[in-house]
Amino acid sequence: LLLRNKFLEVSASVLAFPVHAYICRQRDRLESHATPLPDHDRKALSEYFTPQVLDTVRIVHADPLPIPNPPFASLIRRLGFDFLSPSSVAAITFDNVVACRIRIDTSLLFHELVHVVQYRTLGVRKFAQQYVVGFLETQSYPEIPLEKSAFDLQLRFETDTLRFDAEAEIRRHLTQK
Ligand SMILES: [Zn+2]
Repeated sequence: LLLRNKFLEVSASVLAFPVHAYICRQRDRLESHATPLPDHDRKALSEYFTPQVLDTVRIVHADPLPIPNPPFASLIRRLGFDFLSPSSVAAITFDNVVACRIRIDTSLLFHELVHVVQYRTLGVRKFAQQYVVGFLETQSYPEIPLEKSAFDLQLRFETDTLRFDAEAEIRRHLTQK
């Protein structure tokens, strides 16, 4: 167990730096092709997110997504982890830029906005670090705490008839871990 913890700690610190660089590179590259939130999405989500967040979000559509595999993908696969290719996921968020391969519905957009708020709250560096640690610890994408929070709140958005302060909930999840 000690050896495993040490391994996770070293792997996370080795990987966090290139993951951070990768996120920033994709954000900067995609942002020039991206557009602000369409009015109908903005309206639907304005009950959950502040204008400060909704104003910063940029969306880009493409199938397949023009996103290269991160430089560490082959290493992670060699270590035996299952790693999805970013070009094949439904949607992926780099800081304030949401890249989607499929027509994004409000529910999926809500999920991605949770990540936008996580990035804003933590900063890209800490987000990258927590994502890597979460992935190495759980070895399961939906169980990464940053993803679990997004999936839980997305489900609440879909099923709860009462509106809620999504940003307060996201911050509460971040401080709980
Ligand atoms: Zn997610």
